[in-house]
Amino acid sequence: MTKRYKERWVCFDCRKMFRQMSQIGVAEADEPKRICPQCAQPMMNMGSFFAPPPTADINLWRVARVVAEQGFHCRKISASWLFWELAGRPNSTVPQIMARIAKHREGKGEELLAAIQKKGQAKKGK
Ligand SMILES: [Zn+2]
Repeated sequence: MTKRYKERWVCFDCRKMFRQMSQIGVAEADEPKRICPQCAQPMMNMGSFFAPPPTADINLWRVARVVAEQGFHCRKISASWLFWELAGRPNSTVPQIMARIAKHREGKGEELLAAIQKKGQAKKGK
């Protein structure tokens, strides 16, 4: 079952997000790269839960890019929580982010994800 829906394609050079329709019957990971309408660089499909930082927030875009380039995305709400948890604060250094990603990949990510989900549920207030 494939539905068409708008995906969030992001150009980290322009710090912009473009909503584009998904392709029917193509897994998101298999989609050909789309090109930024503004600078013609390949964009990343960040998933429908990606909330782009303001264009002027260069540091937040910088940390998000580091996480995105490691293959993380926001195609589920839980993935989105994980994404920003890994990105951390806008002033996180690349080694700090990479250390969090390494920790996550060692399997400690399960704990992290559980903590994040708890936080997300508390936020919803239900
Ligand atoms: Zn661009």
